Amino acid sequence: STESTLTTQEVVDITRTTNYGTWRFQKGWNPMHIVDAKDCTITDAAGKTYLDFSSQLMCMNLGHKNEAVIASIAKQAQDLAYAMPGYATTARAELSKLLLEVLPKGLNKFFFTTSGTDANEAAFKIARMYTGKTKIIARYRSYHGSTSGSIAATGDPRRWAMEPRGKQQGVIFAPEVNCFRCPIKHTYPQCGIACADYLEHMIRNESDVAAVLVEPIVGTNGVLVPPDEYMPKLRKICDEYGVLLIADEVMTGWGRTGKWFAMEHWGVTPDILTTAKGITSAYVPLGLCATSEKIGDFFQDHYFAHGHTYEAHPMTLAPGTATINEMKRLNLVERAADFAPYVQERLEAIKAKHPSVGDVRGKGLFWAVDLVKNRTTREPFNTYADKVSGKPLLVDQIAGKCLAEGVIIQAWVSHFVIAPPLIVTKEELDHGLDMLDKHLAIADALVEA
Ligand code: PLP
Repeated sequence: STESTLTTQEVVDITRTTNYGTWRFQKGWNPMHIVDAKDCTITDAAGKTYLDFSSQLMCMNLGHKNEAVIASIAKQAQDLAYAMPGYATTARAELSKLLLEVLPKGLNKFFFTTSGTDANEAAFKIARMYTGKTKIIARYRSYHGSTSGSIAATGDPRRWAMEPRGKQQGVIFAPEVNCFRCPIKHTYPQCGIACADYLEHMIRNESDVAAVLVEPIVGTNGVLVPPDEYMPKLRKICDEYGVLLIADEVMTGWGRTGKWFAMEHWGVTPDILTTAKGITSAYVPLGLCATSEKIGDFFQDHYFAHGHTYEAHPMTLAPGTATINEMKRLNLVERAADFAPYVQERLEAIKAKHPSVGDVRGKGLFWAVDLVKNRTTREPFNTYADKVSGKPLLVDQIAGKCLAEGVIIQAWVSHFVIAPPLIVTKEELDHGLDMLDKHLAIADALVEA
């Protein structure tokens, strides 16, 4: 705050000695002291500015300092800072009304949380109570959250740290959809979406399956866009076997992919949709678990055994309403869709120029640049095992160069995720892409001859 007497050195030292740095070894953590941010730009304590090319954690879709969202928070704090979840509030009704408008039709009963992680925990409990079954089929190369249930459903190696003491019961993993590095070594389209067939095989050979859980477009793990046939096929399989389909739209929701929600790309409505991040553009922590009418009806006569002190917290809901209104006013969903062909064209040119770029893919303002040592084998420069063992990663080195020149770009294992705020200008897009283009030379030099 402006009243603080702490020096920047004190801010950094207190932070790194008294707080945990997340998903990392604590040694070597030297966090940047951020003092200000506006639109797509953030400013550090030395006054240096950076283009935020990842919307922080792919969440600040409206960019920083949106006045309407800020005003909604101030007003709600004055009007009613808190009410127990058992009460009706105006903030709750206003947001619920808007959600009925923007969510895929048929999702009409809501449980509000304070993160994506606990939105997924709610989804698992609801799916288990509704079906009377236990197992969740999730997929490798996925992330669903950090608490015990959601980390157990996470396919990526962030789960591994929990496993020496025994994996939580009730989650099994299907192969992810990844046409660039197919885990079952098929080639699209000749495969006929064999990954979905394999998932059906799992359902047939398992008892007690409550739900299938998917990120519609896998986020952190590489912006993996499924072929158009996948999601309708999955919907059909789930219906045939009476298994619920849960779409985790924590990262893909709120215009990121050029639709309000990514499932709309394939006209598929899940039984449960979870989301967070962009729901308030990350101004306050809010998550949502939205269910279908038939699930809502079930709990008319069945005990809804779930809740939190902060469920439907008014301070989280008012900025949700303001965020949706701002997204509509600024036409941000259309804006993300309209930018997609331009971003794709620029990324294809980057791929053509750099032998280290194996694949570029995405939708809306959500793209991955996937690096390879060798274009024929598609071998990445680094692996998950490198990441969790603390080995320096090539993508981090490149992201570090971009950061030093004022562009914050998200790097993960062997790819970059491009996800600027949806208010980004064409000039800012070009600036961020030019910076990546410049520093990819580091990877090109390491490509196998
Ligand atoms: N699900 C997906 C797809 C995510 O990307 C994330 C976070 O990155 C989560 C769940 C967890 O959300 P949170 O970090 O708000 O708990």
